[in-house]
Amino acid sequence: MTIFNLGSINADLFYRVPHLPGPGETLAATAFSRGLGGKGANMSVAAARAAARCVHVGAVGADGRWAVERLTEYGVDTRHIVTLDEATGHAIIAVDEGGENAIILHPGANRALSETHLAAALAEARDGDTFLFQNETNMQREGAERASARGMRVAYAAAPFDAAAVQSVLPLLDLLVLNAVEAAQLQAATGLAPEALPVRDVVVTLGAEGCRWHNTDSGESRDFPAPKVEPVDTTGAGDTFTGYLLAGLDRGMPMPQAISQAIRAAAIMVTRQGTADVIPDLKDVQDLSL
Ligand code: ATP
Repeated sequence: MTIFNLGSINADLFYRVPHLPGPGETLAATAFSRGLGGKGANMSVAAARAAARCVHVGAVGADGRWAVERLTEYGVDTRHIVTLDEATGHAIIAVDEGGENAIILHPGANRALSETHLAAALAEARDGDTFLFQNETNMQREGAERASARGMRVAYAAAPFDAAAVQSVLPLLDLLVLNAVEAAQLQAATGLAPEALPVRDVVVTLGAEGCRWHNTDSGESRDFPAPKVEPVDTTGAGDTFTGYLLAGLDRGMPMPQAISQAIRAAAIMVTRQGTADVIPDLKDVQDLSL
């Protein structure tokens, strides 16, 4: 089967600085690096690394062809990434010597997707394929509606959190992935605990604690502990978890098996510095002896 991931593609621009600049200050960076990021791109790479067929539905600007080429190298199907007359989404990330950061995020092309583009991509989907989305693009609700009508599994990673956006798609979802903060925010907005949401499967990630799965069909909740690792950089752990989870389900694994694999992949990810470029592949995950 295939995962269609409506998602962001960002250039993560890292600047090492002696201190974070103040108002009016011009500061020379001591180092610079550019990485592929964006929750959407991270999840597509994770799904592809987990051996799923993943079609990324998204957009870059003319300055973003390198990102598309990199996604292709990582095994993502990029035929439905369009080039728009906008800047490629990017994050300007200043990191000082103490590791403190300041980030400017420009969504650019990620929020300029058209319904025509979305419809053309989803026209390829078959019953039982997966539609995955997050909150860094536009067209989420339109996508969820089309996907649901086509009999796809509709999965949402509700980050960055927006209560109104989540509530508008809740009835269309088969699977919702939240971190603990997002779960608390959603409960504050709706009055509903994760296990009471009108979604068949809800997975709440709990950082070093692992995750909890709620299945409303059975009324069962189950905890999955994370392997103990020395964290180096937790960026992208949640995205790796979700990409692997969806890839496992898409490949026919029962939920507990897909979660176990996702937890192992995310544990490896927190031991690595970087985002999309360092997401572990299936062999790394299978070889993990923890
Ligand atoms: P992030 O924004 O840092 O990518 P998140 O806030 O979306 O992550 P978390 O719940 O922090 O989500 O982490 C997602 C998953 O990553 C967890 O469910 C767990 O499996 C794994 N993970 C995160 N931190 C650790 C850790 N310190 N040790 C082992 N696994 C971890």
